[in-house]
Amino acid sequence: MVILGKNKILPLLTPSNTSSRHRLLKCVARLVPRYERCTCDECEIFSGIFGNTFWHNNISSTMHYWLNKLNLPWLPMAAFPHLRKICNTGFIVNPNGESSYLIHPERMALPTLYISGGRTLLVTPQTSFLANNYMKLHQPVFRHERVVVEGFGHSDLLIGEESYIRVFPHILSHIRLAEEGKKCVMGSERSKNNKEALAWGNDPFVEANGGFWSWISPLVTMWLFSLFFVMVYVLL
Ligand SMILES: [Zn+2]
Repeated sequence: MVILGKNKILPLLTPSNTSSRHRLLKCVARLVPRYERCTCDECEIFSGIFGNTFWHNNISSTMHYWLNKLNLPWLPMAAFPHLRKICNTGFIVNPNGESSYLIHPERMALPTLYISGGRTLLVTPQTSFLANNYMKLHQPVFRHERVVVEGFGHSDLLIGEESYIRVFPHILSHIRLAEEGKKCVMGSERSKNNKEALAWGNDPFVEANGGFWSWISPLVTMWLFSLFFVMVYVLL
């Protein structure tokens, strides 16, 4: 935000008449590490600022063109200080950094559906796990469901070429059940909701995929091997 100066709206399309501050910010954005690189400059700048928001192989070239050349010619960045506060706090807060949303669960009396991508990108499936449990705990009379769709990351859940097959049916099913009047969860179902909501540490998706240690173990193994070789080298 310091680089941006007073003009918080970044022109994304190239070529464009940009200030030296905006050009510098774009250079920095291009250098930021990320999961996937792209040949499209606008895509590189966008993902340098936000992080990759979709897996490229999940979206069509037409969608990719629309996203980068038509949809967002300018990127308003005035909200980034607010986003930074949310990320640093770990949950949603207002622009002043105060928790003014989660303290009022009674205002969210409605059924909810959470859909996460199973091929983690930008955010982890834990976000939907926590949100689902929060609503099950505070609004147990409504239907709350969570789906983790393998192979998807973040926005590709909604704009992916196969979203209409693999994602949208979950949304339609949830809406249909709500409209059929099955939103009111009673008796044993409600106590099941409460039990699941209180089991904060047990995300079945994470456990099914081996959890944190499935990622860290190879790294630890590599580190131990490296240490072993260094010790052998020093001793010899
Ligand atoms: Zn791209």
